Amino acid sequence: MTPDPPNPATLLCRARHGGTVPPVHQLPGSILSRILVTPSGCWEWQGARHPLGYGYVRWEGKRWYAHRLVYTLTVGPIPHGLLVLHHCDNPPCCNPTDLYAGTQADNMRDMVERNRWGGSRSLPSGERHWSHRTPNRIVRGEAHGQAKITAADVRDIRASHDDGESLRSLARRYKLSRPQIKRIVTGQAWAHVKEDTVA
Ligand SMILES: [Zn+2]
Repeated sequence: MTPDPPNPATLLCRARHGGTVPPVHQLPGSILSRILVTPSGCWEWQGARHPLGYGYVRWEGKRWYAHRLVYTLTVGPIPHGLLVLHHCDNPPCCNPTDLYAGTQADNMRDMVERNRWGGSRSLPSGERHWSHRTPNRIVRGEAHGQAKITAADVRDIRASHDDGESLRSLARRYKLSRPQIKRIVTGQAWAHVKEDTVA
């Protein structure tokens, strides 16, 4: 077996985390090639992005959020019902050491901590975690007069559902009924929104 070539991500990670290196070598080249290691240590996804910054990627026939895929490939399966959250508050980041599986409550606590320590400067502006973007669910130019969600939301709903999020959870998150979510997921509603179009 040939050793993996030195990976800048590995080196940076080693520097930041005192030797605790996630097994980046498990990441296939097609994923690694779309990751840019920033000076801060974040691994920023260079492929398709959700409007809020999260990376999108197709992997083995499924759509994934890039950070959830990298977490799964390096750390392991995401425990049922948990979200993959960012310690670094940087949506495109896929660095497994910046990611953790947690609940919505963990996410809220993390945000409070960040604000306490970082002051207002660290408040995320426009790139908040998806679960905190209710104010962004403003209908902007969506043709349907009664639309409560945007095309970007539709793509997120479908991708999240593919990724294992339940209809109930999605319904709660988007303040829609479960049947409404189901119609979106099955394509009965919003059929014109194509899955891989990134806004
Ligand atoms: Zn990061």
